[in-house]
Amino acid sequence: MLKKVLIANRGEIALRVQRACRRLGIASVVVFSEADRDALYVRHADEAYCLGPAPAARSYLDQSAILDAAALCGADAIHPGYGFLSENAGFAERVVQSGLVFIGPSSAAMRTMGDKVAAKQAMLDAGVPCVPGSPQALGDDADKTRALAAAIGYPVIIKAAGGGGGRGMRVVDSEAALLQAIAMTQAEAGAAFGNAAVYMEKYLLAPRHIEIQVLADTQGHAVWLGERDCSMQRRHQKVIEESPAPGVDAAALAQVGERCARACERLGYVGAGTFEFLFENGEFYFIEMNTRVQVEHPVTEWVTGIDIVEMQLRIAGGEPLPWAQADIVRRGHAIECRINAEHPQTFQPSPGRLREWIAPGGPGVRVDSHMYSGYEIPPFYDSLLGKLITHGNTREDALARMRVALGELVARGIETNVPLHCALLDDAAFIQGGTGIHYLEQWLAAR
Ligand code: ADP
Repeated sequence: MLKKVLIANRGEIALRVQRACRRLGIASVVVFSEADRDALYVRHADEAYCLGPAPAARSYLDQSAILDAAALCGADAIHPGYGFLSENAGFAERVVQSGLVFIGPSSAAMRTMGDKVAAKQAMLDAGVPCVPGSPQALGDDADKTRALAAAIGYPVIIKAAGGGGGRGMRVVDSEAALLQAIAMTQAEAGAAFGNAAVYMEKYLLAPRHIEIQVLADTQGHAVWLGERDCSMQRRHQKVIEESPAPGVDAAALAQVGERCARACERLGYVGAGTFEFLFENGEFYFIEMNTRVQVEHPVTEWVTGIDIVEMQLRIAGGEPLPWAQADIVRRGHAIECRINAEHPQTFQPSPGRLREWIAPGGPGVRVDSHMYSGYEIPPFYDSLLGKLITHGNTREDALARMRVALGELVARGIETNVPLHCALLDDAAFIQGGTGIHYLEQWLAAR
C-alpha cells in the first residue's frame, strides 16, 4: 500500500483524490498555485505546498516544482488527476526516475496511446474496431493522399497525431480542399503539439460518443466496467454523461468491452483508462484512449459500486484486481451534469466571488465539487464548478432526480450553465435517449 501521495492537480479532482486517500488511510499532500490558496482541499489538507504563481505553466505544469515538493514531503507516489500533466509521458518518466510511483500507466504505454496513429495501430492489432482511415501519418505523395481519401469516401477528417482537447482537426468535404486542409492542419499541429504528423479518417456524420472504462493491475489482469454515453457535447467538450448508454445492444458492448480489456493486457497497460469510440449504425469505431481518470468517472462508479480512484491507488500500490469480469455487475442508471461557471447562452466564463453555494442532496444524488459559499473562483483555469450526479433504478428515475437536484442547486454571484441543463432535461429527444454528438450544437443553433 502507498504511504503518502502528492496530488498534482486542483479543483474537484484534487478533492476527490484527497478523499480517496483518506478513505484508504494514505497520507495526502496537496500542491496549489497562488490563485488556489483558499481552495477547499487546501483547507482540508494535512500538508500543502504552494507551487508558484497562478499561470499553470508556472505552477500545475511546472514539473520540477512538483517533483521538488514531492521530495520535500517524502511522498512515495504522485496522482496526476486529469488535464495538466496527467497524460504527459515525459513527466511520468521523471516521476519514476525520482524513485516515486506515477499513479497511471507506464510512460511507454502513455507514449503509444498519446500518439493517435500509434494508438490506432495498437488497437487494430488487438482486434479493436477503428474508424476507416490512413494506416499511418500522411506522407508527401499528393496522388497517394488523394487516392486514399477517394477510397475512404468524403467527407474525411484530418487529425493531428499528437492532438487533444478537441483541437487539431479539420473536416474536408471534397478533393478540391484536401491538400490545403492537410497543410494547414500540419502547420497548426506542429505549432500547438510540437508534432506536425496528421492522419486521415472517414468523417462520421451522426455518431454517438460511447466510451469504455477499464481497470488493469500490475499482475497483467484487466476488466472493463461498462460504458458511458458522452454524446451531449459542445465544441468537443462533454456536457452530460450517463451510464449505461441508452438503447445500445448489450452483446455488441460486451464484445467491444472484452476487446478493450484484452488490449490492456497485451499492452501491459496499468491503472484506470478509457477507450473512446464513435458509435454509428450499430458499429463501434475507436478514436482514442485516455490514460487517466476521466471527469465523468462517477457515473461508472455508481452503476458498478466500484470506487475508481480508490482502485487507482490500490493498483499503484501493487494490489491485484479483486474481481474477475463476471463479478462486475451493473445496477440502475447514472447521469452526470457538468456544472460550469459560464453564461448559459453565450458560454462566456464567469469567474468571481461565489456569494452563496447550496448543494443539492437526498437519495440518489452525489455532488463532486470544491465549491463553498464565499469562494473566489479564479479566472485562470477551466470553469468546472463541480459535477452533479444522480442515480435511479431506471433512466427515468435518474432524470427525475436530476431535475429536482438542479432545482435545489444555488450558486449566487456568478453565472452557471444550470439553466442549460434544466432545458436539456426537458428536451424530448434527450429524454428519449440516444442523441448524437452534434445534437447539442444543432439544438443551440435552433434556439
Ligand atoms: P481529442 O483528443 O482532441 O478529444 P478525439 O479524437 O477524441 O480528439 O476527437 C474529438 C471529437 O471530434 C470526437 O468526440 C468527435 O466529436 C469528433 N471526431 C473525431 N474523429 C471523428 C470522426 N472520424 N468522425 C466524426 N467526428 C469525429
